[in-house]
Amino acid sequence: MSAKILNGSELAKSIKENIKKEVEELKKQGIFPGLAVIIVGNDPASRLYVDFKKKDCAEVGIESFEFALDEKTTEEELIKLIQQLNIDSKISAILVQLPLPAHLNEERVINAINPDKDADCFHPFNVGRLMTGNPLFLPCTPAGIIELLEANEIEIAGKECVVVGRSNIVGKPLAILLLSKNGTVTVCHSKTKNLDEVCRRADILVVAAGKPELIKGNAIKPGAVVIDVGVNRLEGKKLVGDVEFSTASEVASAITRVTGGVGPMTRAMLLKNTVKAAEILDIKNKKAYN
Ligand code: NAD
Repeated sequence: MSAKILNGSELAKSIKENIKKEVEELKKQGIFPGLAVIIVGNDPASRLYVDFKKKDCAEVGIESFEFALDEKTTEEELIKLIQQLNIDSKISAILVQLPLPAHLNEERVINAINPDKDADCFHPFNVGRLMTGNPLFLPCTPAGIIELLEANEIEIAGKECVVVGRSNIVGKPLAILLLSKNGTVTVCHSKTKNLDEVCRRADILVVAAGKPELIKGNAIKPGAVVIDVGVNRLEGKKLVGDVEFSTASEVASAITRVTGGVGPMTRAMLLKNTVKAAEILDIKNKKAYN
């Protein structure tokens, strides 16, 4: 293996230490960041993610409030809860753990969140602000990837950036962020022809397709930087990314692993958004009283 490992765990740890100090300072000013985490149903992966998020909050001094709702919760009930949290002064930011059970419309649920408390940056108001280059929050996974690149002094400006995947959570917002950093961005998806050929053009290749080991070493330009967002559990429980690590790490100059790469960075960015939301709430409250 010749590639440098881009260590998200280590970087996330130092980001969290800074957030912890920031939260201590805010508390001295009477600002108490609080994150509401809503989980509907009993999906084990969602439960695990929610537990991680609560643990992260506790580590940096952010209070988290869990709302665990029954699988059969109606959309009306869920939206009513969100509306209550929207005006609750203890709650700076709201996160609805996705995916929701099939009977709930994710778009309508996300649209119900107060954009000022949109911890994930999924609300169309915030997506629009991101698109027009004036973001309020940054979407967690894409922002985590940019911080990982920048902390490792990987220049984005002028580089050929290829993003595999066009989801609203990863691919599309990441493409916008890379563009805002002056990358030349190509977005690939399930209908892209000659995927390997397009990937081989990339100086920076980010793969978020949710397809185990879709991209192998022969689809990577020698010396490229490879960010593997995918997390896939194979039968027998082995975790693999969307990139075949054994072959890709022979060709790339730098690469993330399936664990300790993008995941911890995503989690750290959620904490950043929660702190930002607490500051926004404080400013708005002060304006309301003046
Ligand atoms: P998604 O299923 O919403 O989107 C997948 C995208 O990949 C789609 O746009 C689709 O067009 C594209 N795609 C699928 N098959 C393809 C193929 N054969 N060739 C080219 N493109 C293809 O997934 P998502 O939410 O964007 O997540 C993607 C992966 O990233 C998943 O494995 C998910 O678990 C992981 N993920 C990890 C983190 C993290 O923090 N580590 C965060 C979010 C998502």
